[in-house]
Amino acid sequence: MAASSKTQLLETIYNLLKKRYKLEPRAGRMSVLEAVLYGICHEGTTRENANQALSRFKDAYYDWNEVRVSPLHELQETLVGIPRRHERAEALRRFLRQLFEKTYSFTLDELMKKPLKEAVKVLQEYEALRSDFVLATVIQKALGGHALPIDGRVRLALERLGVADSEVETTALRAALERAIPKNRGEDFIDLLEELCHDTCLETLPECGRCELRKLCPTGIKRSEEEREALKAARKAPPKAAGAGRAKGSTEKAGGKKPSEGHSASRKTAGRGGAATPKRRGSH
Ligand code: SF4
Repeated sequence: MAASSKTQLLETIYNLLKKRYKLEPRAGRMSVLEAVLYGICHEGTTRENANQALSRFKDAYYDWNEVRVSPLHELQETLVGIPRRHERAEALRRFLRQLFEKTYSFTLDELMKKPLKEAVKVLQEYEALRSDFVLATVIQKALGGHALPIDGRVRLALERLGVADSEVETTALRAALERAIPKNRGEDFIDLLEELCHDTCLETLPECGRCELRKLCPTGIKRSEEEREALKAARKAPPKAAGAGRAKGSTEKAGGKKPSEGHSASRKTAGRGGAATPKRRGSH
């Protein structure tokens, strides 16, 4: 897709999502340390989950050093309600240990005074910052740079929307989006996509029928065409199979078969008819 049409598409997506979802006002800038921990808690889940986890750490522990020396199972309990708790607890504690070994402190705020490139170079020495999502979170939330954290779910939505190619590395995709979306819209854009991912563009089965983007999304358009075709085919299908099933049932009843056998024949017929009819998608 040409760069200009992609920019236009992104703008339309932004405007439609902005109409659909109301974003809560954001808190001010985070410290670098908090942004790292928030990024670890946020990847693949909601902002709300990540904020709650961070608040629980602040309430339940005396300081970050106590978190650093706590057993993993305790940290996992603090991360209750968040997927992949074990992995996150490990990443969190590993980061705090590495930070303490390097600096004998629990702050990285001197990075806020450095040029962005230099700050990023320092951050990349930490294992947790090898995640592009966590790195982009820190740039966006603490260092005041223009960065769009893209996790697996947001990436999947972008692929379905035809904005991202499945072959492209997430870092390259992020760079392209950062060029196409102005900084003053960056945070809103990514938060709106997160809303979409947790509302209709679900990982397992998207609910395109009630999605604000269904008229421009290639996946949504294709699915709705397939559903229409399936409905048409179901309507056109000769009533032979269903009729035969009913006839069989009546003959069996007439022939003195048990009622349960007759029901079983009807169920089978309904099953065959059902296969041609599109399934109703379960609600979120
Ligand atoms: S139309 Fe469907 S696939 Fe496309 S963004 Fe919406 S929910 Fe996702």
